[in-house]
Amino acid sequence: MVLGCGFDIKKLPIKLPRFYEECFQIFAEHSAATTVSVQCLNNNTRADTIVWNNKHICVDNKSIFHRSLFQKGIITLEDLVSESNDLIVKQSSNNSHFTPIEVFLLMQVIDALPLQWRNSLALCGQKSDKTFVLKDHIKLRLKDQEVLIDKAASKDIYGEIRSKYETTPTAQAKYTEQYSSVCLEWKEIYNLSFKVLNDTKSREFQYKILNRYLTTNAFLHKIGLTASPLCTFCGAESESLEHLFITCPFTNNFWLDFIRWCRNVNIVLDGLSNIDKLFGIWNREDDFLLLNHLLIVAKKHIYECRKNSTCPSFKVFYKTLAYVYQLEAQVMKSNNKESSHNLKWRKYIDNLEQC
Ligand SMILES: [Zn+2]
Repeated sequence: MVLGCGFDIKKLPIKLPRFYEECFQIFAEHSAATTVSVQCLNNNTRADTIVWNNKHICVDNKSIFHRSLFQKGIITLEDLVSESNDLIVKQSSNNSHFTPIEVFLLMQVIDALPLQWRNSLALCGQKSDKTFVLKDHIKLRLKDQEVLIDKAASKDIYGEIRSKYETTPTAQAKYTEQYSSVCLEWKEIYNLSFKVLNDTKSREFQYKILNRYLTTNAFLHKIGLTASPLCTFCGAESESLEHLFITCPFTNNFWLDFIRWCRNVNIVLDGLSNIDKLFGIWNREDDFLLLNHLLIVAKKHIYECRKNSTCPSFKVFYKTLAYVYQLEAQVMKSNNKESSHNLKWRKYIDNLEQC
């Protein structure tokens, strides 16, 4: 019933658990009934506006609902007037089917009406002969149109709510705070794996890093699945995402070998910042495809070593790279893109002995 009413969760005379309160709150923000404003009534608004749980009809700042009056047919504002368009409480007590207490409650309701509604209540002409059907009153306002709830597509409801509540994902907000001195171009960062490689598993892996979904001992310990939060490699510090991929001495040694190899094969690199290691280098032109692809494969290697409880090793990574290269070559060949593949991997191919 409340879903057809112009309710305000704060004015309902009931305290709901937080989850339900939020559900009602969001519903109210998208419900057609809650957007009815206090203006002089016309025939339609009088027939459609439900008296009960209405945020504009309050006693002691709380909306009201009297079951016995509801059961006797008092539902919309129109029900407060008689056939002869008089306020219903003006009917002589002999004709009234309400008890004295109900008459008192009715007077209280009429008293609580906003002035514009009270003044125009008896001035809307003939009463409509509509029968009240609750489901016809439960409507959402989607893209500025009123839609009956049973006709509303879940896709549209989702879109409407999402557009209102879209916020920065938690992981993104955390990274932005962590690296506040750098402008993280999230669109570019998220697109990077789509630009530089075509293997969906690797894209998914990088996506997990960006969204901090990757399992580490720090997380597993927090949820009680491992006895220790310590790093698989060094065993000295908590294994956070950052420790695993950046600050662990074992990982750091691997990165030093990685940088050395890049320089040996003429990929110009001053070094790799923490951001480069985690997100890739989105604002670089030279060797953009190869270097960013290698950075993802390198992180995959580190994570694979964590799973196998071995230390990251550039030699093992380099062997993996041969497989990655071959696999991509096959895909690119079948797509007739061999030349762009060769161009991307040129420095790797030209320096195969440089390990
Ligand atoms: Zn460590």
